[in-house]
Amino acid sequence: MSYSMIIGGQKRTANDFRDVLNPSTGGVVGRMPLATRQDLDDAVEAAARAFATWSREADAVRSAACHAMAARIEAHAEELARLITAEQGKQLNGLGSRFEVGGTVAWTHATADLQLEVEVLQDTPEGRIELHRRPIGVVGSITPWNWPLLIASWHIVPAVRAGNTVVIKPSPYTPLSTIRMVELINEVLPPGVVNVVTGSDDLGAMMSSHTGIQKMVFTGSINTGRKVMAAAAPTLKRLTLELGGNDAGIVLPDADSKAVAPGIFWGAFINGGQTCAALKRLYVHDSLYDQVCAELVEFAKTVRMGDGMDEKSELGPIQNEMQFNRVSELVEDACRHGGRVLLGGKPRGEGGGYFYPVTFVADVQEGVRLVDEEQFGPVLPIIRYSDVEGIISRVNENPHGLGGSVWSSDSGRALRMAQQLQCGTAWVNKHGGIQPNAPFGGIKLSGLGVEFGVDGLKEYTTIQTVYC
Ligand code: NAD
Repeated sequence: MSYSMIIGGQKRTANDFRDVLNPSTGGVVGRMPLATRQDLDDAVEAAARAFATWSREADAVRSAACHAMAARIEAHAEELARLITAEQGKQLNGLGSRFEVGGTVAWTHATADLQLEVEVLQDTPEGRIELHRRPIGVVGSITPWNWPLLIASWHIVPAVRAGNTVVIKPSPYTPLSTIRMVELINEVLPPGVVNVVTGSDDLGAMMSSHTGIQKMVFTGSINTGRKVMAAAAPTLKRLTLELGGNDAGIVLPDADSKAVAPGIFWGAFINGGQTCAALKRLYVHDSLYDQVCAELVEFAKTVRMGDGMDEKSELGPIQNEMQFNRVSELVEDACRHGGRVLLGGKPRGEGGGYFYPVTFVADVQEGVRLVDEEQFGPVLPIIRYSDVEGIISRVNENPHGLGGSVWSSDSGRALRMAQQLQCGTAWVNKHGGIQPNAPFGGIKLSGLGVEFGVDGLKEYTTIQTVYC
């Protein structure tokens, strides 16, 4: 089936298309239209036209529209979940595509209920000063392939809630669920408020430098984030960049190996490790290193990987060939540098799918690529340490700064250590959980700005200070 873009509330087809493939089977899921420069210009123009009225709508109207968007998505939840599984690969159940659609609905309702109040900075006989929040204009959104629907909603909903209009470009690997969601929400939004264009990476570059776009929100890799920032510089676009992570988890000597294993496992392997804030390097104290390794291996053996459409699957394949090859290469490199594979380690790739088994690599240290770089796949390096005092500074040497966690039977001690981690989100005895009422974002190379909650909503506004 050939999909259409949505520009100004109308379907827009293309002369050229690209096949979108199912990572479990290699089969064609649908055909993505390839936008031209003219399509992008038309989408930006439609969004600018819609902004003139949408930005002046009453706040209650915009809030109600966001609730209505959530209701349209919810009414098509199963259809969207199956589309996500088909194009992204993740399984339907557990922390898979049904969970992703449920999260999209929940986040959309929560964002609809956020309020940006006028702040009174001064109210004295000398005068009154108010701080107002104004929408920015046309927001350009670029999303990755790991959580295609959820991340698209994280960009679209706060932008629209705050009075902006949107042109979104999903990843060329997973564009279909975003197209379908934009089609559905256009049933309850005025034309042009949310537009979707699809194509290759070049289209993202064109958006980042487009003179008609006032803000870019980008979720993806650090390297592409840098390109977006550079391309946005001449027009001084506002930016939110949610980039890659290499989250550390630190297991302290007093942790209960058996109790922490399931939380560590799912913190690392949610979505097959293809999650920005997954646990990507595990530091375990020497005194319980072998026990933790053994517990993780035992737990992993109970988890079933398979075709995403199989109701019994708990993990799916890697999403694309490039990522599959990268994960294979990082494991091979780690083995060449002394890494010991405890489980997995050999690509499966059966049935035309990009299946890579859950893999643990022990006895690796910093200086090995699997530890230093973001693997973004179902592989966890387990690093041995003995100096508890020095572990935080060792972990903080990595240039990423998205998330981190500390695991211990003494949660007060773990909390004190977690607060010293250089990262945007820190967890105690858990990893990766996020909520719509709590800001989320990276520091250091992991990004700029935050999403979620009132702080996230503010990123879709500029300040106007009013002296009354
Ligand atoms: P990617 O950077 O390769 O692609 C992301 C998007 O950018 C795609 O839509 C792509 O078409 C587009 N793009 C590519 N080149 C571009 C350019 N020059 N200008 C503008 N756009 C361009 O990332 P990916 O492989 O799709 O996603 C995986 C990465 O995303 C990982 O590093 C992961 O950690 C990160 N991520 C971060 C978060 C977060 O919230 N911090 C969330 C999810 C994923």
